[in-house]
Amino acid sequence: MADSVTTQVVSLYLHVPFCAQKCAYCAFYSEPSKGDQVNRYVAALVRELEIVADDLKPKTVFFGGGTPSLLNLHQWEQILRAMERLNLLGAEEFTVECNPATVSADKAKQLLDFGVNRISMGVQSLDEPLLERLGRIHTREMVFKSFDILRRAGFDNLNLDLMFAIPGQTLEVWRATLTEALALGSEHLSSYEVIYEDDTPLFAQLQAGEFAVDEDLACAMYEELVEQATAAGFRQYEVANFARDHSKLRTPNSELPFFACRHNVNYWRGGSFYGLGPSATSYVRGVRTKNWSNTQLYCEQLELGKRAIESREELPPLKRAGETAAFGLRMNAGWPFEEFRRATSFDLRNEWSADMNQLAGRGWAEILPDSFHLTRQGLRFADAAAELFLR
Ligand code: SF4
Repeated sequence: MADSVTTQVVSLYLHVPFCAQKCAYCAFYSEPSKGDQVNRYVAALVRELEIVADDLKPKTVFFGGGTPSLLNLHQWEQILRAMERLNLLGAEEFTVECNPATVSADKAKQLLDFGVNRISMGVQSLDEPLLERLGRIHTREMVFKSFDILRRAGFDNLNLDLMFAIPGQTLEVWRATLTEALALGSEHLSSYEVIYEDDTPLFAQLQAGEFAVDEDLACAMYEELVEQATAAGFRQYEVANFARDHSKLRTPNSELPFFACRHNVNYWRGGSFYGLGPSATSYVRGVRTKNWSNTQLYCEQLELGKRAIESREELPPLKRAGETAAFGLRMNAGWPFEEFRRATSFDLRNEWSADMNQLAGRGWAEILPDSFHLTRQGLRFADAAAELFLR
């Protein structure tokens, strides 16, 4: 997507760095929301949009966080009006992440009116003790209620995020959560294994020996996920992502289910994107930049009229191709050789032939005449497999 010097970038991410409270496992950049600080952030974000708007024609927009749904109606209005003025509305896919505790009918209507057509709801679990353990601010009831509000408002593309291998979660509890979540009938499901990031309460508890990691149980939960999601009519298209096909419309690219998240597919296929807001990363025509993970500093820089960029890295072509290979392998379709060559100018079969053979020999991958992809077993270890491709 959009990698020539003259083509505008088609993918836009906006980071909203506020949360009501910090979840026990979370290492994303976020901070408590205070009224003045949020208003100042909104003005800075609009300024950053103005700076990059000429280089953007978004086909996908994604508001992530943090908790974007914490912004009030007035703050959303300011951002969305600015996007309208800058010709940044009208994306084919426009996603906003929501916490089930902060969904309202008013906000849902406002977002729809400005062209938001996909909501991603951070559910994580439907078990009250586990929600508490994770430090989530919502209850299971709020999930059902918010899902209903979003459907009534008219959203026909909803994602649910679930988490498995949570300390204290049994296979039975995971099965029950999956069954209830799938019964809601969302179009998309993302499900990640808990990870233990430095400087999080969950990591500290692990270090203190309060619980142990059970890899066999995590594998069994992943198997359960794939089986239940498939039985419920989802197609897996990435390690942690499942989507439905449309009941009537055909998907132009049959490798992907109709409701696959196009914004994330652009990341995995190595496309350019702008990331705005504190801590956000951009990747534009081979140059990666990262904004300061500090909202105060972010606002100060934008108030001076410049983007709040902390670091800039121009990747050598082979390194860039290696990263692209690694990301794309997370997808069930892997890499069609021709598509990889178009995206990177390198041939996967020349540069990485030994690595591909090694993975195939282990049963983690399959080499076909036109493409290379990880097997179901390989997808479970996609991160380790992808490491081989980084140059
Ligand atoms: S709501 Fe999301 S971003 Fe905020 S602390 Fe929890 S996991 Fe992190």
